[in-house]
Amino acid sequence: MHEIDNILKLSQTEFLKLCLEWKEDMIKEGKWDEIQENIDSNVLRCPVHQFAARKGLCKKTTGGTAKCLICGHYICPECYSHACDIISRVTGYLQVVSSWNAPKQQEFEDRKRYGVK
Ligand SMILES: [Zn+2]
Ligand SMILES: [Zn+2]
Repeated sequence: MHEIDNILKLSQTEFLKLCLEWKEDMIKEGKWDEIQENIDSNVLRCPVHQFAARKGLCKKTTGGTAKCLICGHYICPECYSHACDIISRVTGYLQVVSSWNAPKQQEFEDRKRYGVK
């Protein structure tokens, strides 16, 4: 594939495109399940996080959430870091979503955002 220095010259969008092509290839070759399991056991192994970490993480608290197009985990919407906590309000208190029980996390997952004008 590409040399690491050349990869770091890419923008986040260009890198994602590269990753999506790679993911498609891996699915075709039947290797994706194994890669997905590997990432699930440690989300920091996801190439999108590795790229973000090398580019520099923003380490900020930002509004909104985003999901990685490659592994599906929650990521920082700004720098694409996978080492982040999602904080949400439940019955008046702010809590880290990953500490919630499974059904409650699913409920968070199923929520939709609406804009009110
Ligand atoms: Zn990812
Ligand atoms: Zn960030």
